[in-house]
Amino acid sequence: MEKDVKEILRELVAIPYWFVGQSVPNKQLVDYFKEAFKGCDFAEIPSRMTNDPAENAKYNNLVIGLNCKLENLERAIVLAGHMDTVPPFKPYEAGEDEITFADTTMKQDGDKLYGRGTVDMRGFFASVITKLDELKKMNVPVLMSITCDEEAFKMDGAKDIMKFFKEKNIKPQTIILGEPRSSTVSTSHSGFPDNQSDRLMGIVKRQGLELFPKGVGATEARVYSEYCPDTIVFGPGERNMCHTPNEHISLDELTKFGDKLMGLVNEIEKNKEPIVFKTIDYAAIAEKYKKQKQEEDIQER
Ligand SMILES: [Zn+2]
Repeated sequence: MEKDVKEILRELVAIPYWFVGQSVPNKQLVDYFKEAFKGCDFAEIPSRMTNDPAENAKYNNLVIGLNCKLENLERAIVLAGHMDTVPPFKPYEAGEDEITFADTTMKQDGDKLYGRGTVDMRGFFASVITKLDELKKMNVPVLMSITCDEEAFKMDGAKDIMKFFKEKNIKPQTIILGEPRSSTVSTSHSGFPDNQSDRLMGIVKRQGLELFPKGVGATEARVYSEYCPDTIVFGPGERNMCHTPNEHISLDELTKFGDKLMGLVNEIEKNKEPIVFKTIDYAAIAEKYKKQKQEEDIQER
């Protein structure tokens, strides 16, 4: 019998990999992906988190071609995420070792699955793995972009994968970054401009997906959207659960997310409308915020 999403998530959570500086190498996790995506095309891209190449080679970003070789690709759909997790910022009740190992045993309480990375962001990968057979049958290239250093904030992994895409002539039509957004779609935040095509936003609307508040968050979408303006953030789990001691995700939400993702990906694949990006009018945005600020000031008085 094939593993279900809960079982896959349990296996993913069991492999500790923290953001760099406090982490073990991520080979075990890379190997897990290689096994889960067996038969697909892989590229490992070493991180550049330190100045030591031998050290950097212990932490690898991963690109996977699910139904394609990793070169000369048009209209690719990219599913993106990061491997690294963060120990809880507060409270630091346990010692570092205690947190590392205690958190890697996923626990279930009713509909809730507890463990480090259940929300940020192994849940998304578990969803994708359950849909692998369907994804392999798509008529457009489907890729995964998986970084190892998102939580280190520099986002070099995402930059290096986009460099790899340029070198290999890989052109995505859409990048879906699976950071937790309660299964809603985020289109903008700091450094991530609201520049998606009307085509993509029409698809999102027709799929009945709700939108996440604009301007909230900070993710690799700001790197991806420079290369592909049709980047959205869409993942399961509550954003405010990230990095907390009782990080947990709803099994029901996680299960439903897989189907929502496939609905979206299927419509993107079939939709032949031209992809025309909005031109961002920065002056108008600045004017809007100025006005908002003035209104707020008036209300405060
Ligand atoms: Zn994250």
